[in-house]
Amino acid sequence: MNSKAGQRIALISVHGDPAIEIGKEEAGGQNVYVRHVGEALARLGWQVDMYTRRISAAQDAIVQHSPNCRTIRLQAGNLEFVPRDNLFEYLPEFIKNFQLFQKQHNLSYELVHTNYWLSSWVGMRLKELIGCKQVHTYHSIGAVKYNTINDIPPIATKRLEVERQILETAETIVATSPQEKAHMRQLLSTKGNINIIPCGTDIHSFGSIERQAARAELELDAEAKLVLYVGRFDQRKGIETLVRAVRESKFFGNEQLRVIIGGGSVPGQSDGIERDRIEAIVKELGMTDFVKFPGRLSQDILPTYYAASDVCVVPSHYEPFGLVAIEAMASGTPVVASDVGGLQFTVVPEETGLLAPPQNFAAFATAIDRILEDTEWRDKLGKTAKKHVQSNFSWDGVASQLSELYSEILQPALILEEIALLSK
Ligand code: UDP
Repeated sequence: MNSKAGQRIALISVHGDPAIEIGKEEAGGQNVYVRHVGEALARLGWQVDMYTRRISAAQDAIVQHSPNCRTIRLQAGNLEFVPRDNLFEYLPEFIKNFQLFQKQHNLSYELVHTNYWLSSWVGMRLKELIGCKQVHTYHSIGAVKYNTINDIPPIATKRLEVERQILETAETIVATSPQEKAHMRQLLSTKGNINIIPCGTDIHSFGSIERQAARAELELDAEAKLVLYVGRFDQRKGIETLVRAVRESKFFGNEQLRVIIGGGSVPGQSDGIERDRIEAIVKELGMTDFVKFPGRLSQDILPTYYAASDVCVVPSHYEPFGLVAIEAMASGTPVVASDVGGLQFTVVPEETGLLAPPQNFAAFATAIDRILEDTEWRDKLGKTAKKHVQSNFSWDGVASQLSELYSEILQPALILEEIALLSK
């Protein structure tokens, strides 16, 4: 049995709205994960309510994605964007409004699946208040992240404490890769349950178009040497490594070389500052003619960009999973990625792409060149990459593993309910 038909569950993602446009400041993998997991769980028969924080009066309070899956936006603080590092103080109001919504709509949840440490705190309080079970996905671990950045925010102490506590108290943690699980054990606690269930991708949409058709659609030369980056503008994403690697590449100076750096930019926010910094480096290195910044790429157009490229580069300093790598591979495009975190789990070196030490632009240049100079090998890597993702990382596969996990956790409660019914 995979689920109790029609059973209601809550996915909680305070700062990662599953119904919002992806690719802008603070909207990335977590939003995609919650949205796709929610929709796929609904297809398996669960009633899925995804809770997030409302950031403007113009946003709908409820977005219905499918008959059994919706996003519910709760007020917590003013209706405005608040960076995640400043959100903690608004969580009690989020919980109050969660309970109010439950009461007004006569809802009850035996299981909540929380996402990121802020939501884990909400889940731990809800466990006390409504007696639900809790599953948690970290998406990012403070103890790992703070090793890779210089500006440690004031909230760090609280985050580190909550991240240890949730591992020890949740019914189970979902780690998205063996590397993430190892980090939890080394850096957080040896206590608590951890199940490994990866992130997924839409294997129907990514992989639906061939390279030359994609190039024609984007008005790119059939013979271009195209290097792609997709993601948020965040220093931790290592876009500088990519830019400097291209400057070192054998193909620098070749008129067919093209670089596309896709991702959103919000004026005045840190996303914009990183974008300005990267654009300044591109200018300084004399690369403005062939490096393009198309801004945020919608999920509808992304399959075309991935398919059109010779290689997709994921140069992150740290990456708990890295959806972009599996999206590119699902599209038949090999990946050159940093040899860190989840990327070590998803990218198979010499088979679906190559790994290079983070921030080592010379190593990235060598890896990019190996793929650009051998189109036959590029195609072979791309083919294997596509199959690898289809067999291991589909959303439906991920959701059915989660569904089984929820059912196991809820089993004792279900049995008790059945006994109570029988004894009536
Ligand atoms: N993304 C997008 N448009 C963009 C940039 C990114 O749709 O312009 C999506 C991308 O396809 C992926 C997600 O944002 O699904 C980024 O997830 P990832 O795990 O790679 O990084 P994160 O943002 O979680 O650090």
